[in-house]
This record gives sequence, C-alpha cells and structure tokens, in this order.
Amino acid sequence: MQRTVRQKSLPLNDGKWARLLKTAEAYARQKDAFLVEYAHIKYLHYLGDKRALRDELVSAGFASPFGLQARMWKLALEDALFTLERQWEAAIETARGLVARHEGFTDEEKHYAFWLLYRPRKGSRDWKRIQAIFTGDDVTGEQVTLDGAKRHRVRNYLRRVLRRVLGRRPRVKKARSFVVDRQMYRVFFSEKRQYIAVSTLTPGERVVIPLAGVHAVEGNLRVVLLPDERAVEVHISCEPAVFPAGDGEAGIDLGVTEVFTDDTGRKYRAEYCKALQEMSDYILDKGRKCQKLWALYRRNLERDPARARRIRRHNLGLAKQRKRHRRFRRRCENEINRAFNEFLKTRRPGVVAYEDLSHLRGKARSKGLSRIVSLWMRRITGERWEYKSYVHSVEDPGPVNAAYSSLTCPVCGWVDPQNRKGDIFVCRKCGFTADADQVAAMNLKARLHDEEITRYTSKSRVKEILLRRYFESSAV
Ligand SMILES: [Zn+2]
Repeated sequence: MQRTVRQKSLPLNDGKWARLLKTAEAYARQKDAFLVEYAHIKYLHYLGDKRALRDELVSAGFASPFGLQARMWKLALEDALFTLERQWEAAIETARGLVARHEGFTDEEKHYAFWLLYRPRKGSRDWKRIQAIFTGDDVTGEQVTLDGAKRHRVRNYLRRVLRRVLGRRPRVKKARSFVVDRQMYRVFFSEKRQYIAVSTLTPGERVVIPLAGVHAVEGNLRVVLLPDERAVEVHISCEPAVFPAGDGEAGIDLGVTEVFTDDTGRKYRAEYCKALQEMSDYILDKGRKCQKLWALYRRNLERDPARARRIRRHNLGLAKQRKRHRRFRRRCENEINRAFNEFLKTRRPGVVAYEDLSHLRGKARSKGLSRIVSLWMRRITGERWEYKSYVHSVEDPGPVNAAYSSLTCPVCGWVDPQNRKGDIFVCRKCGFTADADQVAAMNLKARLHDEEITRYTSKSRVKEILLRRYFESSAV
C-alpha cells in the first residue's frame, strides 16, 4: 500500500514547459493507444501478469509511434493496464453486490457466481474465470455443485451485468501527466533548493524542475502539469510508516451526517454533513447553470458567433470549476481522514466490522445528496478506509452483512421497523433505548462472528434468521 506525497514546482520557463508538455502529450497518446488495444477480452489475462505483455512487446521489437523512449512506453503500458484493472475491479465489485441482492438466484447459483468473481487478495485474480463469462467457455471448480445448464445461466447474467456496469471503455482525453522511473530522473540540491532533472522525449536531455519544498524522493514519479500556473506537481509514492496492531473489536456505521458512529456511540466528524451538503448543492447548482449557458451559447451560435465564443470561453470554461470542485472534494476527504484517524488512534481496534459500501445509497438519497456526490463519497470512503486500516494494521475480514442492523435490538434480538424513530432506537419488546447509529454499529460488530449471516446472505433470509433466533431465545 502506497502513500502519495505531492510536491509543487516553482513556475517554469517557456522552454522547459514546452518540453514537458510535449512529453505529456506523447505519453497520453501512447497510453490511450494501449487502452484501446488491450481493452479487448482476449487480453484480459494480462491484467494478472502485466510484465508478460511488456516482455512480449519487447521481444517483438516494439517502438513507440509517438516517440517515447523505451523506458517510458513501458511505464505507459503499465499505467494503461492498471487503469483497465481498476475499471474491471470496480465493475466486478458492483456485480458482486447485485448478485448478493438478487432474489431470483438460489444459494448454489450465487455460490457459483461468487466463485467466478472471487479474488483471494488484491491483484491476484484468476482472470480466466472472468474471460469465460464473455467467451461462453464453461469453467467450474471442485466446490461448484451447479449443473452445466445453470452455470450457463449464471454466466449469462454476469455478462449482461458486467457489460452494463463497465460502460464506456476508459480513454485518455487530456495530456495531464507522465510517469518516470528511478533511472529517468536525478535529484540534487543547490543552495538548499531541491531539484529534479527528468527525462523527456530526447535521450540524454533532461528538464531541471526546481521544487517549492523538500521531500525524500524515491521510486516512480508522476509529473502532473498545472497549466494555470505553468508549473508541475510531482507525485511521489512512498511506503507509509505502519503502526503496530491494536486489539479488541469495534463496529462502525457509516453515515452522511457524520462520517461514522462507532459501537460506543461516539460520532466522528459532525462537520462532514455540512461539507457534503455544500459540495452536493454546488454540483446541482452548477449543472443547472451550465444547461442554461449551453442553451444561450447555441442560440447565439448563428446570430452572434463572437458572443457565442465568449460564452464558451469565459462562462463554460472548466479551469475555475475544476479548481472549486477540487476544493470541495479536499474538504470532504479531510473530514473522512480525520474521522478514521481519531477512531483508530483512540480505540486502537484489532478488527473492525463495517458494512458493504454499496448499501449506503439509500442513506445518501434520504439527505438529498446528488448522485455524483453519493457515488464519489462511497468510493473515497472505501479507498481511505483501505489505506487507514492498512497503516493501523487492522485485520480486514471484509464487509459484514448490514441487513436490519439498525432495526434489530442488540439486547433481546427483536427486529422491527418500529424499533427506530428517526435517530432514536427504542425496542418495542424490551424497551432498550440508544442512538440508532450506535445500535447499527453494535449489530455490525456482532456479525463478525455470525456463522449463519454472512456477507452474502439475502435480506429476506437475514430477517428469517433474526426472527427465528428471537423466538428461540424468548421461548426458553
Ligand atoms: Zn429488545
């Protein structure tokens, strides 16, 4: 797991800027060409062995048609393959959630679907199984008990779902950055200022970038262009310092009012609500304004082309919007980071129960958040949690099933929508009263050891199990 440190440069002169821009353009076109070429299903297995494809290209005598040096096209290839892998993994994760909630599948069929989508750990997937979903080949394993016709039906379903959620293939639209490896740059100091000399398109000719700050530089660097400032940002990946593992268990219930509530009832970062709401309002408002401006632009296109051009340039320009948008995102991201830091430092848990992030959708909708914000929030929370739990050595058994977690009494087990009135939980049977989010976190924590209710148990089955348990225990 890597941490990214961003180091800005001082503004660059025209000559340096032009050479960096040319390099970024060639890199973008090369990466885009790789993306188009290797997006095909028949190349999918290369995502599991990126080096193999590189070696094949080298032995076939590949030379970059866009003028990249050998080291750099190899990096562009790796970059493209990682982009494809990310898109596939996100789609597979969504498909997994859809299978889990699919009411028409039997447990055996679900088991086969999960077997096809199974990934033992990050970066180690059997891509042949995914390929088979698309090629129609019948794949099966020892633990699969389903017959051939039903396997075919499950693969068909997955193919349709994956096609839909994959959507458009990723492309590189803008030349914004390029990557250099350890042999393609040199770091030096002169009068206390740090410089990085990076390779560009011409072998032996390096561009010297003066940095605004000082930081240890190692591994691959991504040089990101900042056209508004005529400067670059150097992204340095480094291995973060890892804290020793804590002990004990905790549960967290992710929210939209605060980042989350833990099983002791503590709420982390109440400021989050406002940050999210403002970001959502901004995006909705911007969308409406943009629509009006485009209409105005189209109306003026023939009558007054000069005016149309001005609207296009000044009012529909993206630079300022991007900058503001980035500010909103940073603020929310900071709240998420702080919440996890506060929680992990004060509780020091060894294991944490949390819910599948795809279940958060309902909550976000109830707060009137825009769809974009809600999707973004889920993705960032997941990413930040993955990173923070790694840094704090938290064991990750994967998300637990969150069905009925906020409606079930943690004391007597009674499950009832009436148990919850807004933010307050009052059990209709035993009278246990607590904060509703705390109750959810307590129930999630208990599910760490639930052998019957796993992540993939359907919602209706969860309710059956919970009610059966209640009546069994109250009969005694
Ligand atoms: Zn109760």
